[in-house]
Amino acid sequence: EASAKVIDGKLVAKQIRDEIAAEVSRMKESAGIVPGLAVILVGDRKDSATYVRNKKKACESVGINSFEVHLPEESTEQEVLKSILGFNDDPSVHGILVQLPLPSHMNEENILNAVSIEKDVDGFHPLNTGRLAMRGREPLFVPCTPKGCIELLHRYGIDIKGKRAVVIGRSNIVGMPVALLLQNEDATVSIIHSRTKNPEDITRQADIIISAVGQPNMVRGKWIKPGAVVIDVGINPVEDAAHPRGYRLVGDVCYEEACKVASAVTPVPGGVGPMTIAMLLANTLSAAKRAYNLA
Ligand code: NDP
Repeated sequence: EASAKVIDGKLVAKQIRDEIAAEVSRMKESAGIVPGLAVILVGDRKDSATYVRNKKKACESVGINSFEVHLPEESTEQEVLKSILGFNDDPSVHGILVQLPLPSHMNEENILNAVSIEKDVDGFHPLNTGRLAMRGREPLFVPCTPKGCIELLHRYGIDIKGKRAVVIGRSNIVGMPVALLLQNEDATVSIIHSRTKNPEDITRQADIIISAVGQPNMVRGKWIKPGAVVIDVGINPVEDAAHPRGYRLVGDVCYEEACKVASAVTPVPGGVGPMTIAMLLANTLSAAKRAYNLA
């Protein structure tokens, strides 16, 4: 007897994209401004190429210009830096995104440091991350996946203030920033990582669980307090002979079990995933507005 409400990220993402498309078209008509996103892809990872293609398509669908640079795997760090600096100086580019992971011979920190913080639509520049962590400071951009998780909670009317939240995972791109965002929304936050003992004792206290681990079905029904809200960021391929590709994607949370215990839960796919790109478009739009001092 599944009772949880399904948090439909695909639907919410569509609504947000429609809102963005309307605003982009108003900007074009009233001020002649077209927001632009530059994406830098280094190397031949298939998954990265797919993400970049999806981001470009999403830009087109809302009227945002996209610029892509694809550098070969054996490029030097200098070559990547050069294209970043070019986009930093290009007034038709409002957002710059370096698709991660970079080839192992490159220093990710040097490269992310080079992105102008005014154009850092991924929110990965250390100044933006640092400001997110500090009381009374505002980052110019918040990372897209964490922002998408919070946006889902908001759009489903789920209160965060005063609630106990548990984040599973502490990566720079998801776990850590989403924990900071929850704290900024006045939740009391615990973070679970690979060295945490008895994680289920901690998750069972949570009103809100956000899981970003990368382990299929790790979060079982008995990890969840009855009535809790569960946001599943994980995207994990598992073998499935019945599927044409030979695999299917599942989250970190055992979805069927969660549906029986939680009050609301995100599916995988169709939960957080579509929100990530919607937030990238939102960040690019706000970068363009900021560049022209539009409200
Ligand atoms: P990382 O591998 O960078 O981080 C995983 C985190 O989970 C680490 O902090 C690690 O702990 C922790 N962890 C690993 N195993 C366990 C365990 N058994 N128990 C408790 N904690 C554990 O992953 P990402 O943050 O980049 O991504 C997490 C998941 O989210 C992946 O499935 C990824 O595909 C997905 N993802 C989805 C996105 C979307 O758009 N929906 C966007 C980005 C990621 P420690 O720090 O100790 O190593």
